[in-house]
Amino acid sequence: MAVKFCPRRGAHRGAARPSVLILLDSKAQQTELEWISSPSTGWEEISGLDENYTPIRTYQVCQVMESNQNNWLRTNWIEKGDAQRIFVELKFTLRDCNSLPGVVGTCKETFNLYYQETDAEVGRNIRESQYVKIDTIAADESFTQGDLGERKMKLNTELRIIGPLSRRGFYLAFQDVGACIALVSVKVYYKKCWSIIENLATFPDTVTGSEFSSLVEVEGTCVSDAEEEADNSPKMHCSAEGEWLVPIGKCICKAGFHQKGDACEPCGRGFYKSSSQDLQCSRCPAHSYNDREGSWRCDCEDGYYRALSDPPAVTCTRPPSAPQNLVYNINQTTVSLEWSSPADNGGRNDVTYRIMCRRCGWEPEECLPCGGNVGYLPAQSGLVDAYVTITDLLAHANYTFEVEAVNGVSDLSRTQRLFASVSIATSQAAPSQVSELIKEKVQQRSVQLSWQEPEQPNGVITEYEIKYYEKDQKDRIYSTVKSKSTSATVNNLKPSTAYVFQIRAFTAAGYGTFGPRLEVTTKEEPSATIVTSEQNPVIIIAVVAVAGTIILVFMVFGFIIGRRHCGYSKADQEGDEELYFQFKFPGTKTYIDPETYEDPNRAVHQFAKELDASCIKIERVIGAGEFGEVCSGRLKLPGKRDVPVAIKTLKVGYTEKQRRDFLCEASIMGQFDHPNVVHLEGVVTRGKPVMIVIEYMENGSLDAFLRKHDGQFTVIQLVGMLRGIAAGMRYLSDMGYVHRDLAARNILVNSNLVCKVSDFGLSRVIDDDPEAVYTTTGGKIPVRWTATEAIQYRKFTSSSDVWSYGIVMWEVMSYGERPYWDMSNQDVIKAIEEGYRLPAPMDCPPGLHQLMLDCWQKDRADRPKFDQIVGILDKMIRNPNTLKTPLGTCTRPISPLLDQNTPDFATFRSVGDWLEAIKMERYNDNFTATGYSSLESVARMTIEDVMSLGITLVGHQKKIMSSIQTMRAQMLHLHGTGVQV
Ligand code: AMP
Repeated sequence: MAVKFCPRRGAHRGAARPSVLILLDSKAQQTELEWISSPSTGWEEISGLDENYTPIRTYQVCQVMESNQNNWLRTNWIEKGDAQRIFVELKFTLRDCNSLPGVVGTCKETFNLYYQETDAEVGRNIRESQYVKIDTIAADESFTQGDLGERKMKLNTELRIIGPLSRRGFYLAFQDVGACIALVSVKVYYKKCWSIIENLATFPDTVTGSEFSSLVEVEGTCVSDAEEEADNSPKMHCSAEGEWLVPIGKCICKAGFHQKGDACEPCGRGFYKSSSQDLQCSRCPAHSYNDREGSWRCDCEDGYYRALSDPPAVTCTRPPSAPQNLVYNINQTTVSLEWSSPADNGGRNDVTYRIMCRRCGWEPEECLPCGGNVGYLPAQSGLVDAYVTITDLLAHANYTFEVEAVNGVSDLSRTQRLFASVSIATSQAAPSQVSELIKEKVQQRSVQLSWQEPEQPNGVITEYEIKYYEKDQKDRIYSTVKSKSTSATVNNLKPSTAYVFQIRAFTAAGYGTFGPRLEVTTKEEPSATIVTSEQNPVIIIAVVAVAGTIILVFMVFGFIIGRRHCGYSKADQEGDEELYFQFKFPGTKTYIDPETYEDPNRAVHQFAKELDASCIKIERVIGAGEFGEVCSGRLKLPGKRDVPVAIKTLKVGYTEKQRRDFLCEASIMGQFDHPNVVHLEGVVTRGKPVMIVIEYMENGSLDAFLRKHDGQFTVIQLVGMLRGIAAGMRYLSDMGYVHRDLAARNILVNSNLVCKVSDFGLSRVIDDDPEAVYTTTGGKIPVRWTATEAIQYRKFTSSSDVWSYGIVMWEVMSYGERPYWDMSNQDVIKAIEEGYRLPAPMDCPPGLHQLMLDCWQKDRADRPKFDQIVGILDKMIRNPNTLKTPLGTCTRPISPLLDQNTPDFATFRSVGDWLEAIKMERYNDNFTATGYSSLESVARMTIEDVMSLGITLVGHQKKIMSSIQTMRAQMLHLHGTGVQV
């Protein structure tokens, strides 16, 4: 192992204990050493002085004149203790044979070092054969002159290591074979890593390993009140040199304790440490205390709590106070409640609301819980927003609603519940839905149905109405049948045909809503030759013609004759039932979801023309679609001129599902016929590749087109494009089609700058939009283009398409800029929730930006309809003056997003304008009647002034006041910069 780590000093930090343990130090001994010398004439113990003039014991031998010397000197027995490797350090002087005259041949300049391991002392005889030679020792330096007693000697130091040793002790022996030596010092020692505390772990004294290169791994023990860090137990390594190396892992102070030096100390009173992972003790959070040392948490003061999920570090909190300003609105048997947040949220930001509903008799004590039949939208509890709609209440009944604000500690508190309450009486209401239609008997031409009375009739049911239509008919033609009982037979049906039935109940308060659909297929007719109206269009024409005539006649006489005969003719009857003529409502073509077709091929062929592949000439690839390449080419139908087309192909090796999804776009597109919706020429499903043939849009998708022509169009041209898109969307929304992915990238532009809506699919087809990301509500959503309610709870409607349209407006006016620039989707969602909206793009007329802001109203009911948008844009195009950008406005703002609730007051000419902008125009008269005729006078109003106008709804008071305050601020600012309001 490479030992490049810094060695830890032995023992306790800072106290550098030597890592060496001495077993023998001849110099340290003042008395005689009394080693054994053999023969006794050889080595001789002589007292001397060392280089510092300290008295020492030495052994000397100098039999250089005589040959065949073999003089042994043996130390006393040395007990080795726990040592495994022993260091022997010798200091000696040795005389140079050359400096001794007449010794040639006999004089030596080395001596030998031996050792013998034994478990105990042995006798005083030296048995040479029992000794193991360690080395022959020669001098690095030697005497050059003088005698043995002379001080001018050169001291040699030699170190030898022996081991591993296995017996309890050993002897060292020095063999002289005729040299002139003085053994000045013999030191025998071993090395140890001394106990140490490192990373709050204690490592015990550890003797070094037996091999020179070995590291001894040692497990540490945590100091008291410390624990091992998970999966990281403390270890160190003791090196051969007696140094601690390579610390691994550590201990950490337990919860309630913190580290001070090499120990863990308890946290003081009023402090806590919740986990061993925390480094420091922290002061008890607000509204909590502790009076013990070493605490891992603090207790909450009386009346304050910590939710189970609250970590010990958070402040103790309490339940919120009651919601404020509870207001209600009754619509028959539906009540909406709205309130504002409690004055005190208890110190938490997880406040939600729950509703308690009680139905009451005439006395307050007669109240009972409403039970499960009542509906709460969005929910009865866990409400995040301060409103709820309560549905399915009984008509003509008294209710009490309590709205309670709750937070994470409400259920822990034993204090009294605080809530706001209202008592309400519901009014007359239509009956609730019939929950289920049951088919009793199915024949070739009739179906017998039965049902139960609705759960809440809200009065006496005088009649039921069953409406039905042929499921697979392209233009939905409804028929109705009425019944006074809870069953009916519908006659005059076609055999082998799927019908869809729905029913609703009627009371004096009007019709209830239709219940769930029931699909029934009539039986087959045994005879083969039946002429159905489907096969014989003449019948339909006849029926429609007859019906039309009858409608016309009854439009004149209808109300005189009475409802029963109104526009209908009585037909084949059974019991109370009446069958009415079928007729088609002109003008309103409805989009049919191709998913409702069991066989998707049928849907394609119902809505799309099958083209002969030989009529299509593919010329080049122009793009990549999800299912394959998009090409341009030409379509030449027999007897017609050839036209340029775009051809979407389905790549080879497709699955059945891919084929279905691919053709689904054609099934949808084929239902549309509008100059601002991309037109489907047809499909090729009977050959390969499978193709969808669409009118060719020379300029491709709108976003790329605008980016390519940045700044090159007049405002009128841009508004013209927007008008086209809005008209296409008006058509689609009139057909009941919700696009869900309206964005500039999904608009195509032709050579005349006509924009057409494209990219149709079912909801799941959005998955192929690269802008679509997964949201918490499930499914993929192109967040930047999508209305809040669609992101939050997947409420996709034409109104959410209007929101997306507003974003498209912004994209167009900024020449294909990315909405919200490089903000993250999460930040976009947050900013929108906080009321911020995209600011006007550069040089954008304020009126257009206002229209965008209207499209981005939080409440979808407040957004304009496509019909209105088309109207507004038409008006702008007719009066180009309205599209002039006032100097100094509409340039890119410094702050990237605009607070939607902050209209630009400089643009308002009158109090009426202002009220209209904040959607409070209903109070116009209140303002004028009390003399607030100028914006300056309005800007000075106080809340009392607003209330004195007779504006009683708290929400409206707040909205007006907040706008006045902003107005005041803006006026100050504008006057300051010299702009007149
Ligand atoms: P899509 O699969 O509909 O997103 O189409 C992929 C790309 O093909 C688009 O971004 C357009 O550039 C191009 N494209 C699709 N339809 C047409 C068309 N009708 N005319 C011209 N280009 C088209």
